[in-house]
Amino acid sequence: MKKNLPPSFLALVWLVVCLHAALPARSASFATIVTNGPATNRINLVLFSEGYTNGQMGSFLSDATNAATVFLSSQPYAEYSNYFNVFAIFTNSAHAGSTHLVPGTIPGAYTNGYTYFNSSYDNYSDFFITLPPNATDASYSHGQGKVDSLLQNYFSSISTNNFMAALLVNDLTPGGSDNSGNAAISSVADTRIVVHESGHVLGNLGDEYTSAYLGYPDVEEPNTTTNTAYSLIKWNAWITTNTPLPTPNSTIYQATVGLFQGAHYHTSGWYRPFANCRMQYYGDAFCPVCQETLVLAIYAKTRPVETRSPATNSLTITLNQMLTFSLALLQPATHSLNVQWRTNFVAIGGATNPVLNLLPAPLGNGTNRVDAIVWDATDLVRKDTKNFLKQTNTWTLNVAVPILMIDSPKWQTNGSFTFRVTGTAPAGVVIQASTNLTQWTPLKTNTLSNGQLFYTNLGAAAIPRRFYRAKTPP
Ligand SMILES: [Zn+2]
Repeated sequence: MKKNLPPSFLALVWLVVCLHAALPARSASFATIVTNGPATNRINLVLFSEGYTNGQMGSFLSDATNAATVFLSSQPYAEYSNYFNVFAIFTNSAHAGSTHLVPGTIPGAYTNGYTYFNSSYDNYSDFFITLPPNATDASYSHGQGKVDSLLQNYFSSISTNNFMAALLVNDLTPGGSDNSGNAAISSVADTRIVVHESGHVLGNLGDEYTSAYLGYPDVEEPNTTTNTAYSLIKWNAWITTNTPLPTPNSTIYQATVGLFQGAHYHTSGWYRPFANCRMQYYGDAFCPVCQETLVLAIYAKTRPVETRSPATNSLTITLNQMLTFSLALLQPATHSLNVQWRTNFVAIGGATNPVLNLLPAPLGNGTNRVDAIVWDATDLVRKDTKNFLKQTNTWTLNVAVPILMIDSPKWQTNGSFTFRVTGTAPAGVVIQASTNLTQWTPLKTNTLSNGQLFYTNLGAAAIPRRFYRAKTPP
């Protein structure tokens, strides 16, 4: 029947398909599900609709909201929920659901354009959902390319490092994949699969499956290893000395981090850190090692200091007035970030709040340094070799405040009293005198010459006691 179609009809079909592919954003709708801050300092989870037909946008937004709740209530994302935004992008598909390639299922053959992103379930387990380019369709532009294009259209100014694309597939058969690390795909039948796939996409975690997958590359991930010696196990910070290695998968070790045989699609020779983890069973929680990896991944994409004041790195200070430094911090849900302020590399006692008030004169004139060290002391991370959980903010203070000193006091033979004023005082000095340190009388206003001023008080001998001081004019 296809062969008998007139050429003009085929051309029209071709034109429509091309327009559709070239202008994906025209027919897309954008919605904000959760917003916690600027996209530049958040991981932006972007949920895409796949297999939702025209008129099913409401259904998709409801599914996206539910998926966001499932995602952000899973640890460690729950503790770092402020570090995420969630958005939804709706595009309608010609058909509902996805393509099933298992013989006998409907549809049993792949057709480009059946759904918007051309997703399909694999043809042996009917669980693994991928987008082109895949074994079914090698064309990037038919699948992942559309995801990337939509992200580019809506977030052109934001680094791609700050996104996690996820597709909600409107299909009742549970399934998903990480689409080769590019997008977390999950059917709406069970959106906990999004959380499992996010472990691959965000944390480069491996599957802790023990079943065989012939041809899968034997490359270790943060949660898989072939090493059995304690010193070589990358998660050994979590293993106590009395835990046997390898660790028996028996009742007493179900809540213990150890070295459990079976991981990375091998029944033996490969090991995982925990008996049961979300990277093996998507309904379980992430194990401590996978949670640690994900917290590190979150901090690799976000910074704990959102903004700082003053915004500039370098300050020139000419007045000894109180300076205020402050940080706006991105805080976890149930614990606070730690702060320590320092001047010239020395910690200031008690200065552990996001705001510091500081008088510059005691630092001395010249170049000084003020630091705010911010770190997350979460129990979820035991090894942070790249210092992802720490951020140091530095200000350089060029201090040039007027500092005056009086020296060389001397009674002269003629009965006058002389002394010298030294220091820096661009606006000049006022020399004052007092008999009681309370009431001060100005005696002379002058400027320093080459950093000094000699002063002579002619009538001093008549006064039994007199205090002198030099001030810069207000
Ligand atoms: Zn794990």
